Amino acid sequence: MKILIVEDEPTTADAIRSGLQAEGCVPEVARTGTEGLARLQAGIFDAVVLDWMLPGLDGIAILRALKHITPKPPVLLLTAKDAVEDRVTGLDSGADDYLVKPFAFAELLARLRALTRRAGGEESLLLQSGDLVIDLKTRRVSRDGNAIALTPREYDLLVYLMRHTGQVVTRGMIARDVWRETNRSTPLDNVIDVHLARLRRKVDEGRDKRLIHTIRGVGFLCREKPESDT
Ligand code: CA
Repeated sequence: MKILIVEDEPTTADAIRSGLQAEGCVPEVARTGTEGLARLQAGIFDAVVLDWMLPGLDGIAILRALKHITPKPPVLLLTAKDAVEDRVTGLDSGADDYLVKPFAFAELLARLRALTRRAGGEESLLLQSGDLVIDLKTRRVSRDGNAIALTPREYDLLVYLMRHTGQVVTRGMIARDVWRETNRSTPLDNVIDVHLARLRRKVDEGRDKRLIHTIRGVGFLCREKPESDT
């Protein structure tokens, strides 16, 4: 199970991470709300352990943004707040469960297990744009029913573009969220362009309707209807 921990307190984050690792999970830690949201937009997680009070975006802001992410992973909200109205705010914002700090790790684990069991029963998870469909569980990509074979990087890129359907995605966003390399001495722009060109050939070549568009000087856009396309 891939679990994202969004927690700014290093001791708490490390304790949860090593506990989950010992349980055979694959935890990732984000130290700020902004980083947490970027990872949620770029990857697929089975569950999220989300602290309420965070630098950057707080837990409630992340929960609101998560409503637009498919598939939405179940969220266990950590809170130092124990007032009834705070719990209601948390659950109303889309948290699936909450845990009041301080808590025992066994309790966190039990809650997470219950959440992922519930989530596992849901229907298949599809991303769709026009006749292009991605099944996020099987990683199968098809257009008009015909399977498209993608490399793992092309797949990640396409998921990222489709999750931002209708929004312009810059090369900087792709470098940060798909490649996750922000400290390179040379920019990734050329590498990204090469992968995008390949992806676009596989997805759009020979089709009447193109889905991946270049916005000159800005970035890329996944959209059904072409406009100011190059
Ligand atoms: Ca905190």
